[in-house]
Amino acid sequence: MNILVINCGSSSLKYQLIDSVTEQVMAKGLCERIRIDGRLKHVPSGRGPVELEAPMPDHTAAVELVLQMLTDPQYGVIGSLDEIGAVGHRIVHGGEKFASSTRITDEVIQAITECNDLAPLHNPANLIGIASCKKLMPQVPMVAVFDTAFHQTMPERAYLYGIPYEYYEKYKIRKYGFHGTSHSFVSKHTAELLGRDVKELRTIVCHLGNGASICAVQNGVSVDTSMGLTPLDGLVMGTRSGTIDPAVIEFIAQKEQRSLSDVMNILNKESGVAGVSGVSSDFRDLETAIDQGNARAKKAMDLFCYRVAQYIGSYTAVMNGVDAIAFTAGVGENNATARAGICQYLGYLGVKLDPERNRVRGEDAVISTDDSRIPVLVVPTNEELAIARETAALVQGQ
Ligand code: AMP
Repeated sequence: MNILVINCGSSSLKYQLIDSVTEQVMAKGLCERIRIDGRLKHVPSGRGPVELEAPMPDHTAAVELVLQMLTDPQYGVIGSLDEIGAVGHRIVHGGEKFASSTRITDEVIQAITECNDLAPLHNPANLIGIASCKKLMPQVPMVAVFDTAFHQTMPERAYLYGIPYEYYEKYKIRKYGFHGTSHSFVSKHTAELLGRDVKELRTIVCHLGNGASICAVQNGVSVDTSMGLTPLDGLVMGTRSGTIDPAVIEFIAQKEQRSLSDVMNILNKESGVAGVSGVSSDFRDLETAIDQGNARAKKAMDLFCYRVAQYIGSYTAVMNGVDAIAFTAGVGENNATARAGICQYLGYLGVKLDPERNRVRGEDAVISTDDSRIPVLVVPTNEELAIARETAALVQGQ
């Protein structure tokens, strides 16, 4: 069955058409500047990319263009829309309502809408994606795959905040966690690579991209993760601060004469390694600056690695040990300096990184030595494939 995977943002739409049997990507692409002017990059498998500017006054126009490209005589990969068996939508926030992926019905759309205030930038855009596909392909079954669902197994002691309990009762303020599709995919694949059953393993997955989070996966389920009510919590990220003393917010607001929303914007968009280094949120730029002797870039990298190592220690404690550590996402898959910087703190676990193996980029690999007490791996994430698998399984009733 061919599955169209849709990841709809406020002004962008990423897509992949995946054959669920061979798991091959038949085509993928990106629509950008939706509601501004409109740009599409379409990459049919085995052929060069097609780039064009086309008006996209709304998301439905963008989806329409994607469907045209997929069936185009020259650039397409299918003969007609009948060859799309199902659509899988990435949905950012499922609140406490969704602990797994689900077939999209009117009730499900309503329940996702009720989670909008938990992810005001993302969920409404995801819903627009659903509405557009429903309009253009009314007969095709659709599935919602949530970033938060995998973490719904966290115990109460991991997800509750130390604030008045009524705020949890009234507003559902708690830790939810994100990147769940990635943490689930990588923890399963780590077990496969080690020839072990995920249900017997304690794995720490470090999803280190521009947004970054860590997850403790015990016996196949998430027992704790570093992002919270929102993706701002936890690690120091590209532009997000991660965990800080909440009193810092009022302090900055007073000293800088800024509003609460200004300060939140600073913590989300001007902080992290970008804010500390003053160089960039991109770890490639950071590395170049470090090589050129930039002291603040070095401080940012040190802070990033230290915080990751802290979480690894914390999650080792939570699971009473760890059997495998996996690095994934842009930085985790490609940046040997960051991986080495993190693993230097893990000697107490008997972790020994192999510098040669650690040079790997973007492919499955064990990067620890053969005598490392705990294997450390690079495991590229593939959220689109995970969404396609979930979608196919639900539609085929598995
Ligand atoms: P993501 O959000 O997962 O796309 O990750 C973005 C981060 O990954 C950026 O900081 C990039 O510097 C880093 N990254 C992505 N690709 C590479 C690469 N080929 N080599 C080094 N770093 C990379």
